[in-house]
Amino acid sequence: MAAKYDIAVIGAGFAGLACARRAAERGLSVVVLDRQSGPGERIHTTGILVKEAWEEWAVPAPLVRRISRVRVYTPNHRFVELDRDRYFFMATDTGALMRHLVDETREAGAEVRFGAKYLGAARNGAAFTLEESGVACRFLVGADGARSRVAESFGLDRNLRVLKGVEWEFEPVPGDGDCLHCFIDPECAPGYIGWVVPGVKVTQVGLAVHRHHKADMKRFIARLDPLFGLSRRTVLEKRGGVIPIGGLLRRFHTDRVLLIGDAAGMVSPLTAGGIHNAYRLGRLAGDAIADHLEGSAPDPGRVVRRAYPNHAWKRAARWSFDHLPVTRALEAGLLTRNLFRRLAERVFFSRV
Ligand SMILES: Cc1cc2nc3c(=O)[nH]c(=O)nc-3n(C[C@H](O)[C@H](O)[C@H](O)COP(=O)(O)OP(=O)(O)OC[C@H]3O[C@@H](n4cnc5c(N)ncnc54)[C@H](O)[C@@H]3O)c2cc1C
Repeated sequence: MAAKYDIAVIGAGFAGLACARRAAERGLSVVVLDRQSGPGERIHTTGILVKEAWEEWAVPAPLVRRISRVRVYTPNHRFVELDRDRYFFMATDTGALMRHLVDETREAGAEVRFGAKYLGAARNGAAFTLEESGVACRFLVGADGARSRVAESFGLDRNLRVLKGVEWEFEPVPGDGDCLHCFIDPECAPGYIGWVVPGVKVTQVGLAVHRHHKADMKRFIARLDPLFGLSRRTVLEKRGGVIPIGGLLRRFHTDRVLLIGDAAGMVSPLTAGGIHNAYRLGRLAGDAIADHLEGSAPDPGRVVRRAYPNHAWKRAARWSFDHLPVTRALEAGLLTRNLFRRLAERVFFSRV
């Protein structure tokens, strides 16, 4: 006999936990299933939070480190420093943050199960039965990341435009301060950027590249050696994943099935940041599903689509970065430092 829930959420990432927590706060019975063995296992993100996300979540201080400055480097390591009205980011101990978010979700009343892989689901009238998990539900949420199995099993759209991200965590570089270092480097990071971030008790170094390119971390680290001396430091952990940059999928919902977060392509096409969107829109989805199941409120997918920001200028900027010789213009001095700084500030600090 299957255990019955109002909502089954697949994926205990930022999107799934936000949705589950909100729906549970609204009094619905919610189960979250994740294939990982436990919370905070196999992290695949740098985990930098924008200021707004940190303010909304009230993340405990030991889990974060304030990043007050951003430097953007050209390939020959000249840089501009960006600054906007005391705006800041937060680096996180992402594993600990995920455990914290799971605790909060459970405290709100949701059941969160690990070691529970979603394999597929069958519709039985007004309910779904999930294969092999003994779960039945009225509404199914796919928060299972960029390669969503829920999308696949319900014939929804898939993320086709993706970047490949790789990150190594080093023992901390002494005096690495409060600065996020971003490297425009078409050789090591074709299609996006490389970065060095002073994290919580570690230094995080990463590359994001077009999916058909190799993310050559050894080469990138060697190039950074004059700045950070990373090749002499111990690598503590390696991680990687894909980042959807094609924008919100056209078909991300169908009758009582909704994709959120990376599964739905809710990532900024320009900064490739998805955590704030995942959390904010996950929460909104939790409310919209509760409204829908309680009465005659519209399809939650329509509510989420209306709330999704129009990224038109970001998509245009993404196109320019992909197709115009930005780096050569920079190196040749055709793009002045001031203009470059203004463009970069718009990329890093614009929240719409
Ligand atoms: C290298 C890298 C660095 C990044 N850095 C940043 C950053 O600094 N800031 C930022 O804002 N964004 C960053 N992003 C993007 C950000 O990580 C994602 O947008 C965000 O994690 C999306 O959250 P999510 O909950 O939608 O999906 P995910 O975090 O991918 O969570 C999906 C969950 O679903 C589970 N799952 C998947 N399939 C199944 C299945 N079949 N059954 C059960 N469970 C399943 C997974 O185990 C996982 O826990 C980065 C991405 C990468 C790859």
